[in-house]
Amino acid sequence: MSRLKVLLVAGTHGNEVNAPWLFDQWSETPELINTHAVQVVPVIGNPAARELGRRYLDRDLNRSFRRDLLRCTSSSDREVDRAKELLRLYGPQGDRPCQIAIDLHSTTAAMGSCLVVYGRRPADLALAALIQARLGLPIYLHEGDQDQQGFLVEGWPCGLVIEVGPVPQSLLHACIVEQTRLALEACLEALGKVSSGLLSFPDHLVVHLHLGSLDLPRDDFGRPAASVHPQLQGRDWQPLTAGAPLFLQPDGEVIRFKGRDFPVPVFINEAAYFEKHIAMSLTSRELWPLLKEWQEALQQIAGS
Ligand SMILES: [Zn+2]
Repeated sequence: MSRLKVLLVAGTHGNEVNAPWLFDQWSETPELINTHAVQVVPVIGNPAARELGRRYLDRDLNRSFRRDLLRCTSSSDREVDRAKELLRLYGPQGDRPCQIAIDLHSTTAAMGSCLVVYGRRPADLALAALIQARLGLPIYLHEGDQDQQGFLVEGWPCGLVIEVGPVPQSLLHACIVEQTRLALEACLEALGKVSSGLLSFPDHLVVHLHLGSLDLPRDDFGRPAASVHPQLQGRDWQPLTAGAPLFLQPDGEVIRFKGRDFPVPVFINEAAYFEKHIAMSLTSRELWPLLKEWQEALQQIAGS
């Protein structure tokens, strides 16, 4: 058994029910998931929110791992307290230290399964490349967004999000459970091989680099003045061309995309992002060579 310990988090958002349900079944039937000789620590990220079927209680747990919040001793937000607790229990210097965190989410957007990495940490990119090589999943690289900071996996030396959709919030869906299981197994298989030094890395990876987000048009009172255009709905990962319809006003007027660079939209009309005033994010699809130092960073963390 590898000394590598991987924290597996489900239910970071309490109304994403499929990965937590998979964990429940797994605890009763351990052979349900092949952990590929990696030590795993499955936890429910936000059990109190899960109990209530809500995304969060006081604030988004997956935006609560900001240094300033974690340093603050007088927080009244239960999610900040939970973030501190998760780090105290399973953080790199915690009671049961884990070196890698895999955070399992679901989306209402028609994204299929994908990987989300935050910033350009070398080990994250190497791990994402390995899973992409195995399953072909797209990688969304989220960075440079001052409004969205403090993601859970950033509390660990290496980590990424597995995002699976589309599925409504709070709906148990067999296909989503199965896709979550497959992506998780591929991830654990890759980590098992890395930790035993058995793996060769791909030469390249395809990333979708975050460019920015678009909000719905709004009226003078801040209310939505248009909806996502029906021709755009469900077309995540499909590049926008100049003049493509973005939004539809009640009077039938269409607001069109004015850029020229064929950005790739993701999280189109994600229900949870309505409150964040994000109707979709735009990305740039890029082919990157996989650098040797990224591999070495992952191998070092995985102990091979
Ligand atoms: Zn989520």
